[in-house]
Amino acid sequence: MGWDGAMDLPTLTEVRLPASRADLAALSSSVIPLGGGTWLFSEPQDHLTGLVDLTTLGWTPWEVRPDGGLSVAATCTMAQLVAIPARDDWCALPLFRQCAESLLQSFKIWNTATVGGNIATALAAGALIGLGGALDAELVIWTPDGGERRQRVADFVLAQRVTTARPGEVIRSIEFAPEALAATTAFRRIALSPLGRAGTVLAARRDRDGSFVLCVTGGTTRPEVIRFPDLPAPAELAAAIGAIGTWFTDPHGAADWREGVSALLAEEIRQELAQQEGSTPCGSR
Ligand SMILES: Cc1cc2nc3c(=O)[nH]c(=O)nc-3n(C[C@H](O)[C@H](O)[C@H](O)COP(=O)(O)OP(=O)(O)OC[C@H]3O[C@@H](n4cnc5c(N)ncnc54)[C@H](O)[C@@H]3O)c2cc1C
Repeated sequence: MGWDGAMDLPTLTEVRLPASRADLAALSSSVIPLGGGTWLFSEPQDHLTGLVDLTTLGWTPWEVRPDGGLSVAATCTMAQLVAIPARDDWCALPLFRQCAESLLQSFKIWNTATVGGNIATALAAGALIGLGGALDAELVIWTPDGGERRQRVADFVLAQRVTTARPGEVIRSIEFAPEALAATTAFRRIALSPLGRAGTVLAARRDRDGSFVLCVTGGTTRPEVIRFPDLPAPAELAAAIGAIGTWFTDPHGAADWREGVSALLAEEIRQELAQQEGSTPCGSR
């Protein structure tokens, strides 16, 4: 999409094309980062006077970390993310595509929307928020003083369209630890209509040590992460879903329906992960 869409934002006086981190000093509450622009150019942004196009920084979309983990640049597109090749020790990779595809999108958005933009937008149905929540991914956030801070994706998103990001901060990357990438995963999504926005999205993993992590998004105002040291009993899992207090009602689903169907889907996930116990998965997707 580039920044051609900026012409539809009449309050803008500048679109900067940074060459280095020093050029990000222009960021403020009214001059904000531009990723793919798929959300920014979709509605009025009258509080803005400028954009700083992060894509001109030329960040490598993704890199294998020295510890065998994965570092994904904030400017990595959805298409680049799902094209990361399989590795025998990255059993969780299929979850990347499952989560990315939970966002129903055109070819144009698929090739333009960025990982950082998706997380920073903090929609309840934020496709990669569920991925980051389930895999305990950590954001590397550049701070305006030249430093950085780190925060889990699930802690970064506080509510719909609300994050812990302060003016001038930029998500640099999303980091996946090797232990989480080695996990077995399961995924469920449901919507009221075949091409409808998600009613609820559940992404889960089971680590090699048996521990279980489930992240619920889409039907809750913020990512809800449930943890057990081993696969829970059905009643334990149902109680954990029942303890979530952030279900909401909108045209894509009523709060009580979202809660009820999430309990059913969580149990399906529990059974799926139990069946995979002892198997030697991985390698392809
Ligand atoms: C009507 C509509 C409905 C949508 N519904 C959904 C949905 O249900 N689920 C979903 O996942 N997506 C949805 N989207 C898609 C949305 O476009 C995506 O979330 C997309 O991934 C945003 O990425 P982007 O790179 O285009 O972000 P941009 O539009 O460039 O930026 C979005 C926001 O993120 C900030 N930002 C971007 N990059 C960074 C960074 N590195 N650091 C800090 N802040 C940054 C921007 O300043 C801006 O506030 C919807 C879009 C539209 C128009």
